[in-house]
Amino acid sequence: MSGTGFAKQRAGELSSQASEIAALRQVVRGEVVAPGDVAYDQARRVWNGMIDRRPGAVVYCAGSDDVVAAVKFARSRSLLVAVRAGGHNIGGASVCDGGLVIDLSRMKQIEVDPIRRTARAQAGLNLGEFDTATQAHGLATTMGVNADTGIAGLTLGGGFGKLGRKYGLSCDNLISAEIATAEGRLLRVSATEHADLFWAIRGGGGNFGIVTTFEYRLFAVGPTLLAGSISHPYDRARDAMRFYQAFASSAPDELSLDAALATTPSGERVFNISCCYVGPIEQGERVLKPLRAYGAPIQDQIAPRAYVEIQSAGDAIFPRGRRYYWKAQFLRELSDPAIDVLLTHYANAPSGSLLVLQHVGGAIARVPIAETPYANRDALYDCFPISIWDDPEEDAAHILWARELWDAMRPFSTGGVYANNLGEEGTERVEAAYGENYPRLLALKNKYDPTNFFRLNQNIKPMAAC
Ligand SMILES: Cc1cc2nc3c(=O)[nH]c(=O)nc-3n(C[C@H](O)[C@H](O)[C@H](O)COP(=O)(O)OP(=O)(O)OC[C@H]3O[C@@H](n4cnc5c(N)ncnc54)[C@H](O)[C@@H]3O)c2cc1C
Repeated sequence: MSGTGFAKQRAGELSSQASEIAALRQVVRGEVVAPGDVAYDQARRVWNGMIDRRPGAVVYCAGSDDVVAAVKFARSRSLLVAVRAGGHNIGGASVCDGGLVIDLSRMKQIEVDPIRRTARAQAGLNLGEFDTATQAHGLATTMGVNADTGIAGLTLGGGFGKLGRKYGLSCDNLISAEIATAEGRLLRVSATEHADLFWAIRGGGGNFGIVTTFEYRLFAVGPTLLAGSISHPYDRARDAMRFYQAFASSAPDELSLDAALATTPSGERVFNISCCYVGPIEQGERVLKPLRAYGAPIQDQIAPRAYVEIQSAGDAIFPRGRRYYWKAQFLRELSDPAIDVLLTHYANAPSGSLLVLQHVGGAIARVPIAETPYANRDALYDCFPISIWDDPEEDAAHILWARELWDAMRPFSTGGVYANNLGEEGTERVEAAYGENYPRLLALKNKYDPTNFFRLNQNIKPMAAC
């Protein structure tokens, strides 16, 4: 560790000496929360209740200047740094033990330009806040399905959601960004300014710096779309899943069809399809006719709904603070043997578990692979078992179930994984997320962050750090 007087600290740790915390408070405008402060326990929490880490301090940045100051402060003391926006990373990468958490969650300005159809959004906004601000002008861009997720982590790793098949990933709709580099420089990046760094942040995650502001392209959406879910009983799930595969693989770009094996509050297992038609309601009704006419669903809740309501439909399932585990992989199709594996494993799922199929493809698949770091564009589904529980005693059983299902599905996988759905799974899995784009990302990591200052992420390890 550089500096003096901290010989007993482990590398990367922030000294809890009052003078160090005072020094940090002096260089930033935002609040600094340290061990012993009333707000500390709340400040160290992230979405996943499994994560229980104790940072040396959390700095709630008030603006880009604070982000730069925090980077310089951490750098001068060789501190371990975690970067947090919405706090949703499944493995808890946005909080650390001992080091400094640079938190963006209070940076929530957004300016929507309805004429140019763009939005400049600070990195602390969550999806619900972003969608509400853009929908006030009848506009939107692709964001995920849980209103509480941060736009920052989501966009930097790719970003798919109900609009993705029609308009591409969140990162595909990024026009420019402002980013604080590992050296503490604040850069504007776009197709014409630091174009290599702009390429890297459209899928390469938090490896290259801290993005303080994103500028997005927007589209006319809603405000009302035809959306909702339809469920089939478990004993008819096999046929319903085969129908789903045929329907989803020939769906127009306007239609997104996420699906899940789930358990109702009364304990009944079901196969659920959650659809959203991004276009006129009457057209959606025509396109969705075969889905609604198929079989004998036990419920059909498809109806015209406000886009912001559709975007928060999953919120009740994923509240902050419960214990979560998932492991994801991409599929190109849902073959009959794959359906059998899913049904057999889900039949033994612990209560509260889900098997999710997130529908991708469409416009996402038509962007050339080299255009952005996000490489798994040929996939049709992101497939992942999700365990949700509360009792720490049940950790092992829940994690084991999800891992076993993931293992059993490996033969059907493309081999690729979505960077944003990775926990702490090692370099090989990060390479699987980036495929042929990995070498270019590595070269850019060597250029922009050779000391691996930004390492708590889906880490692309620079040569000097190997
Ligand atoms: C309930 C739930 C629903 C989800 N639904 C979707 C979905 O529909 N579509 C989808 O694509 N993904 C989805 N995800 C995955 C989501 O994209 C990732 O978890 C993402 O990392 C969340 O971003 P965050 O800002 O909330 O996370 P954080 O935990 O705050 O950040 C995650 C990582 O991103 C990096 N990071 C965050 N902010 C910045 C920044 N400003 N600058 C640089 N690096 C930064 C850091 O490396 C950090 O460790 C979902 C996750 C959850 C938990």
